[in-house]
Amino acid sequence: MSIVRVAIPVPVPQLFDYTCDHAVPTDVGRCVRVRFGRRIETGIVVELPATSDIAPARLRPVEQILRDTPAMSADWLALTRFVARYYHAPVGEVMALALPPELRRATTVDIRDDDPLLALTPAGHTALNEGGRPSRARRHLAALVEAGPTRKSVARQWPDGDATADLLRRQWVYPAAPANPALTPPKLPTLTDEQSAVLDAITTAKPGFFPVLLQGVTGAGKTEVYLRLAERSLALGKTVLMMVPEIALTPQFESRITERFPHARIVSLHSGAGDMARSRGFLRALEGDADIVLGTRLSVFTPLPRLGLIIVDEEHDPSYKQQEGVRYSARDVAVWRAHHQAVPIVLGTATPSLESWRHATDGRYRHLRLTKRAVAAQMPTVRLIDTRRAKLDGGLSKPLIEAIGQRLARKEQSLIFLNRRGFAPVLACPSCEWVSACPHCAANRVVHLNDRRLRCHHCGFDSPIPIACPDCGEQDLQPLGRGTQKLEVHLTERFPEARVLRVDRDVARSRGDWLALLAKIHAGEADILVGTQMMAKGHDFERLTLVGVVGADAALYASDFRAPERLFQQLMQVGGRAGRAHLAGEVLIQTEFGDHPLFQCLKRQDADAFARLALDERRQAGFPPFTFQAMLGADAPQLEDAIAFLQRARDDAMTDLPAALMLYDPVPMRMHRLARRERAQLLVESTERAALQQFLGVWVPRLYRLPAGRELRWRVDVDPLDV
Ligand code: ADP
Ligand code: ZN
Ligand code: ZN
Repeated sequence: MSIVRVAIPVPVPQLFDYTCDHAVPTDVGRCVRVRFGRRIETGIVVELPATSDIAPARLRPVEQILRDTPAMSADWLALTRFVARYYHAPVGEVMALALPPELRRATTVDIRDDDPLLALTPAGHTALNEGGRPSRARRHLAALVEAGPTRKSVARQWPDGDATADLLRRQWVYPAAPANPALTPPKLPTLTDEQSAVLDAITTAKPGFFPVLLQGVTGAGKTEVYLRLAERSLALGKTVLMMVPEIALTPQFESRITERFPHARIVSLHSGAGDMARSRGFLRALEGDADIVLGTRLSVFTPLPRLGLIIVDEEHDPSYKQQEGVRYSARDVAVWRAHHQAVPIVLGTATPSLESWRHATDGRYRHLRLTKRAVAAQMPTVRLIDTRRAKLDGGLSKPLIEAIGQRLARKEQSLIFLNRRGFAPVLACPSCEWVSACPHCAANRVVHLNDRRLRCHHCGFDSPIPIACPDCGEQDLQPLGRGTQKLEVHLTERFPEARVLRVDRDVARSRGDWLALLAKIHAGEADILVGTQMMAKGHDFERLTLVGVVGADAALYASDFRAPERLFQQLMQVGGRAGRAHLAGEVLIQTEFGDHPLFQCLKRQDADAFARLALDERRQAGFPPFTFQAMLGADAPQLEDAIAFLQRARDDAMTDLPAALMLYDPVPMRMHRLARRERAQLLVESTERAALQQFLGVWVPRLYRLPAGRELRWRVDVDPLDV
């Protein structure tokens, strides 16, 4: 009888010993089913210890060891253990997070070769992304992508008909085995000098870890650089991990990759793919059967035995940081992984995060640049419109209205960017103090006129818009402020001849809705787009030549010290949508603070000047990246309980606090109430990362033993984004 040490997804920082018949060293990394308390959990064997601290008689046997499924590799175990260590999260929870859904449920996943993955051809992608009512074949195709693109999964859904044969006949899919010469890769564009220089710098580097910040203006052709790098890696028989913030929003990106590498085995891991598809993709990768893994945040945990290169596109994007559960930064984990597996990593962006920019200027990362757009068009011109003096008409200044009018006359598209959905952010009573507060959160409910509801954007609570003030009976309730719905209404009235299309999460609820909207825009079926940040990312709309920015000032003086960085990145990105093809683009930003350095940098589209400036401010204020932070957060039904727990945690730390550490007082969070829970935080800071890590390593395990009410929950967030 041998002992196995198992990581189980439970919120305690330890491993658990079980007995197991005939466990052998190759069982390390295997999924097991074990009894934990009264439940059965899926865990992973991480060690075969010779002895246990628990008396042999008290050890329970594992219920089942999954030998049909390959064991997780040593690299993968090292990666997840690093994440648990660095983010001070229970290793069992990290491993559960890193496993795909079917393995987490310990379902057997079949990846036998008689059922090869099917991949979409470019025509298949086009068919999938087409708007309008889907035909029967397109429904098959969509279901295929959803279910896990194999012959069998299609056969299961349509046992009688031969749906797969139909899709193959239409050349929408092909068996993704390497030996399918039916498709020819497209003709490659000639690289620009800048692109060639970047490629040379990366490909001539010594083998091994080589971190690169690829800073390229919007439209500079960063993707083309990624593709060439990937091509080279594939030729060497290596796997490429390509990470993007949100695949669902940028189907173009995925199409470009499948189109360029018709013979490669591409595994696409994102929430749009079904559970089985993700699990199969993961196992394919584990078996070394993937050439390109394309995915969002979670894909950083894909096992990759032949890893040759990591690419992180839009490295500054906050969605790389998980904001719940294990709060890891996929970008930072990717850098660790590249280092651990000794491969190059390319962090691409037009607007680097201050962290990466600093590493690049320090020389820790190689700083490579693309300063010009790849195709003919120039960078768009940026103009600031002073709204202190201008009279606004429905929130729009005269120059912006005129600019939209010109685009309409020239049959070009305009995009008005307002990062606030709904009709108005609050409904207020003019006669008393009543506002549409959410009863469960420290936030106002937003007016949604389309379905006539007040809705909380934090917890989802909603109710019909009242016809009179619930407190005083006043009938003339006023929507205050402006959201995308209001702007849409106004633009429709102002330009009755134009087709106005709103693009935000209320319209694009599903991936299907979103793809249909994109198709509509590409087909030129809209003249004026009103959009939130969904519209900011990576899109290429040929006839879009004007971007108007309204309502951006609020972020300038927000209490979050990262707000200006986000605002700058967002406005550079959304501005980058203008004039991508051969038509010149223009960006008009309405602001009361035109002299603010942020807007001055935007006007010059100078990401470096902004980074220097923002870093100077951070240095003076003692903020990251010049200090390192961790946040202990606690929530409970009563604020006192959350604060009291944090105070105990603080007292506990103060008994032997190292000199390099600073602990602030527990305070309520900025949004102190969310979904009926009161939230508080305790900030821990140090000028040295190692000192912070060492402290957390001692302190966090002790937190599990502090007295806390049953209803209290706490968590540690290392390198928090929201402070
Ligand atoms: P980025 O990702 O840097 O914003 P993209 O890679 O999307 O830019 O490139 C912008 C556009 O330029 C795309 O339509 C792309 O096909 C085109 N492009 C990129 N490199 C070249 C090149 N060397 N020659 C011609 N067109 C190019
Ligand atoms: Zn009232
Ligand atoms: Zn709420």
